Amino acid sequence: MADGVADDVARQPDGATESGGATDGDSSVRLAGAIPPPVHEALATLWRAGHGAFVVGGALRDTLIGRETADWDLATSALPEQTVGLFDHAVYENAFGTVAVRGGPQTLEITTFRSDHDYADFRRPHRVEFGTSIEADLARRDFTMNALAWGRPAGAGGLGDAVLLDPFGGLADIGDRTIRAVGEPRNRFEEDALRIVRAIRFAASLGWTIEPATLQAIHETAPLVGHLSGERIAKELDKLLAAGQPSGGLRLLESTGVLAAISPELAAQRGVAQNKIAGEDLWDHTVRSVDAAPLVGAPDLTIVRWAALLHDIGKPATAAEGHFYHHDMVGAELADALLDRLRFATATRARVVHLVRHHMFLYEPTWGDPAVRRFLARIGPSAIDQLFALRRADNVGSGLSPDVDDLAGFRRRIAGELAAGAILDRSALAIDGSDLMAELGLTQGPELGRILGALFDRIVEDPELNDRSALLALARTMARPGDTSGERATDR
Ligand code: ATP
Ligand code: MG
Repeated sequence: MADGVADDVARQPDGATESGGATDGDSSVRLAGAIPPPVHEALATLWRAGHGAFVVGGALRDTLIGRETADWDLATSALPEQTVGLFDHAVYENAFGTVAVRGGPQTLEITTFRSDHDYADFRRPHRVEFGTSIEADLARRDFTMNALAWGRPAGAGGLGDAVLLDPFGGLADIGDRTIRAVGEPRNRFEEDALRIVRAIRFAASLGWTIEPATLQAIHETAPLVGHLSGERIAKELDKLLAAGQPSGGLRLLESTGVLAAISPELAAQRGVAQNKIAGEDLWDHTVRSVDAAPLVGAPDLTIVRWAALLHDIGKPATAAEGHFYHHDMVGAELADALLDRLRFATATRARVVHLVRHHMFLYEPTWGDPAVRRFLARIGPSAIDQLFALRRADNVGSGLSPDVDDLAGFRRRIAGELAAGAILDRSALAIDGSDLMAELGLTQGPELGRILGALFDRIVEDPELNDRSALLALARTMARPGDTSGERATDR
């Protein structure tokens, strides 16, 4: 096997491409310098054991364009069991031949050369075969820019002999900032429709252009995206939304028909009139809002972007005579259903839905402090920054200044209430349900909840009353006579 591979590889430099003045040789030297020591060591370990091993995938692409990269993927002729035997802290991860090597700051994924077979349902291959050829491994990859390999085939020379393999002209495409399918684009998208979404997410995150034949094939195969699992789609959409400017990718999703396969409700925004920016429709407004939405605190960096994407998802269904009555409520339901289909974590989904549900708040500077506190209690302090970020993005998407309608003044008043320690939920009341049971003889049940709710409302109005005896006195006036005759709680 080693000889055959070595022969194939020896022929590769003939295919070396010039790109932006960089030759295959220049790029190879640059890569050698940029690959972190633990990755070099892993390669050398595999080489010393007589295996072929290459750095592959996104890390090479990103290194060549000067972007930081965190995941280093290796492809090797070694079988998974052999790889596991060569490294400490190595775990055989999945049926696709990937071994994860932990220990250093990065996790290295080392995958046995593969060739894919039997694609069905426009999803992942049904069967993966381990191969002995890096060429077959590169041929199954999605785009030319992702089908480079840097390393050494089995049994080839000393440690200095690493070569850059570029069988599909990836270097030239990287130089031209072009996204091009490996092989016949339509076939590749029919094999795995996720590549359709990936092409568009790379266009957004890299700011590159999809070459015409690849783009044409995306138009033709877009409905296949509907066959994909929500989880796989969500991962790519999340990366798209994390781009500096997601708008280009979002417009591509819409114009190619991919959006309709993911969310018909969002696709229906195209053509819905909006009295906001002249000549722009609801989809234009959504796209502008997403661009204006900030990437905020980890771990849910894209949460406000998702909320901006979905904030008006309820409008097409509620449009009537120039109004969109209750589009926030309908939108919250539609957003919830979509994020559920996309298999979002429950907590993240709830946060996005909460933002969609409350994005229409109408502040008036004449509001009294209790109204500010009631708003704060309804939204919850942990969602305030995200809701304001969404509203600012929504304003920008409407062609307005971000802080129109004294949004900044409202935010300052909220900050003032938070600094003053405003009571925001029942747990901050000076008494709780067991106090009410002990002192008023109430029993567990709806009446207890009603009184606690009413006390809370009073405290929001007048924080000074948050004192045990004042609250108990108030509670006595609130309790209905019939309800105090229940058994006294004696267990406290
Ligand atoms: P990122 O920087 O966003 O991680 P990436 O190119 O590394 O981009 P990954 O999803 O990490 O993307 O995939 C690693 C590599 O695996 C890709 O560079 C590509 O070579 C290959 N690949 C990933 N998904 C597919 C797919 N659906 N079809 C074919 N090849 C794929
Ligand atoms: Mg990657």
